[in-house]
Amino acid sequence: MRAVSRQTDSMQSHAFNADLHCHSLVSDGTLSPTALAQRAKHNGVDLWALTDHDEISGQREAREAAAQLGLPFLSGVEISVSFAGTTVHIVGLGIDVDDAALCEGLSATRDGRELRARGMAAGLAQAGIEDAYEGALCYAGNPALISRMHFARYLVESGVCRDTQAVFRNYLVRGRPGYVEHRWASLGDAVRWIKQAGGVAIVAHPGRYKFSANEEFALFSEFKAHGGLGVEVLTGSHSGADAVKYAALAVELDLLASRGSDFHAPGESRIDLGGLPGLPGALNPVWEALGDRVLRD
Ligand code: AMP
Ligand code: MN
Ligand code: MN
Ligand code: MN
Repeated sequence: MRAVSRQTDSMQSHAFNADLHCHSLVSDGTLSPTALAQRAKHNGVDLWALTDHDEISGQREAREAAAQLGLPFLSGVEISVSFAGTTVHIVGLGIDVDDAALCEGLSATRDGRELRARGMAAGLAQAGIEDAYEGALCYAGNPALISRMHFARYLVESGVCRDTQAVFRNYLVRGRPGYVEHRWASLGDAVRWIKQAGGVAIVAHPGRYKFSANEEFALFSEFKAHGGLGVEVLTGSHSGADAVKYAALAVELDLLASRGSDFHAPGESRIDLGGLPGLPGALNPVWEALGDRVLRD
């Protein structure tokens, strides 16, 4: 009986609708932190985190808006990291947003973006697309966070490509004219900044990196050795097969499991805030480990 009920438990999913990954116009989303909080509440989210790229200046507004709406909130960030020649994203949840080392680390990580964007524009100009830096800047709510996503929106609006996926494929990935190699934070630094600020570090959307099995093993081994604790199992960019694979990996490596839409913009993101299925019941949800960091008013 025990074995049967345990098996049934593991097949059920957590009903709790936590959405612990999304972006505001402080990075490369299009909505304000307040509008995101309202959208999360409207969509039935039970616990919400805003995780802008390399930037926490939207956290106060997000926290205040969530409190007004009675929406439980976790502070968050998504840090850009270079690992094995690839950009990897590490989400930090439950961080102290006033932590000095974290703020300095994020500032240093943001620093190279303008130069990189000018290099991207120079590459695009050689491919016949003029003034892309100025064009992308018009889409950036925060110029310090100018990202490939802003270039993608500009190239769609100016009719160069049909949608942002086509822009990435044709212009913004390695080997394409608008791609510029860039050195982000190290894995160890990103995990340490999050940990020392009282938060939990999570490998974001692992299904996106296309690592070999050896590289992926190295990523998770080093991540754990630095004190990383979680992995995103359910996210807007994972296929069903990715979710199954990373659910198994969470169990195998004893990692906390996270869930977040990675919502950026209405009409652009595949999954809306609160729109993911439930986390499989056999997993340990990251929000249970972060209970004391949840802000309720
Ligand atoms: P950046 O930080 O400037 O390298 O920009 C990365 C952002 O671009 C990601 O956070 C996503 O929002 C978006 N992005 C990256 N790759 C793709 C892709 N293949 N399709 C659509 N959006 C992407
Ligand atoms: Mn993004
Ligand atoms: Mn990401
Ligand atoms: Mn993201």
